[in-house]
Amino acid sequence: MNYVVIGNPIAHSKSPQIHALFAAQFPDHPAVEGFVYDRLLAPLDGFANAVHEFAAAGGRGANVTVPFKEEAYRFAAELSPLAQAVGAVNTLIRLPSGDWLGDNTDGAGLVADILRHIPIKDKRILLLGAGGAARGVILPLLGQQPASLTLANRTFAKAEQLILHFQANTSIFLRACEYGALEGNYDLVINATSASLSGERLPISNAVFAPNALAYDMMYGKAETPFLAQAREAGVALRVDGLGMLVGQAAEAFELWTGLRPDVAPVLEWMREQLQK
Ligand code: NDP
Repeated sequence: MNYVVIGNPIAHSKSPQIHALFAAQFPDHPAVEGFVYDRLLAPLDGFANAVHEFAAAGGRGANVTVPFKEEAYRFAAELSPLAQAVGAVNTLIRLPSGDWLGDNTDGAGLVADILRHIPIKDKRILLLGAGGAARGVILPLLGQQPASLTLANRTFAKAEQLILHFQANTSIFLRACEYGALEGNYDLVINATSASLSGERLPISNAVFAPNALAYDMMYGKAETPFLAQAREAGVALRVDGLGMLVGQAAEAFELWTGLRPDVAPVLEWMREQLQK
């Protein structure tokens, strides 16, 4: 077993199917010879042990998911600049020294997926939520040179803290805003809250969506998410769920491990078909 996704729970993870499809795109390539990718359920208090055992068994790379992303950040002997800034790791890469390098590919996955639909440069972004997912995507979004980024969160203080954290190193206009104080409209509205998980709607008005806006929900599922339903009712034509982000972050991790860039489109199409079954 060379690669795993580590989490708790983990049975639901689609990462093994995604990575098997990536590997199949490179038949006979030495970098994917014997490529095996599995799920690894780590006890809630046993993340480090699970990684050590995996390494002893020949493990070369791991994806890290809920609830271990912060622990993986503390665990990694080395960190990419992005993982350092984000404070969370979703990809571990085994170095020749045997140490683990931690990186974070969530933001690159999101950006790549949005760019399949619209450019981000010069757009006004509204990011909803200030949890781990929002924190992971801010720098990659700013890397695309948007006109501005506004962050709204139910707990306003968390939005303020995040903006303070990222403001120091960018000239792009950033601000934190309470939901009730949102004014104007935005070209790109991204839901990075977990409100959709509980079926709840967000306290935003239809007016936040500019004409031709893209509404992006990091959540995905068989049915339309509550946020995308909200956007549809507001007249937003361009609505995208987070399945492409999931496949995109996996593609980034696959490339970090193998040096090979997989084609995301056919894998995303296959995943979409599976989701509809
Ligand atoms: P966290 O638990 O770290 O953060 C949750 C965020 O949602 C907080 O900002 C919280 O606000 C907000 N929130 C929760 N419930 C509500 C509500 N009812 N109304 C308004 N805001 C609410 O979660 P993550 O950041 O890790 O994940 C967020 C979402 O992103 C999840 O749905 C997750 O599945 C998705 N995701 C998708 C990925 C993909 O590849 N497609 C990758 C990573 C995440 P507060 O601070 O006030 O509590």
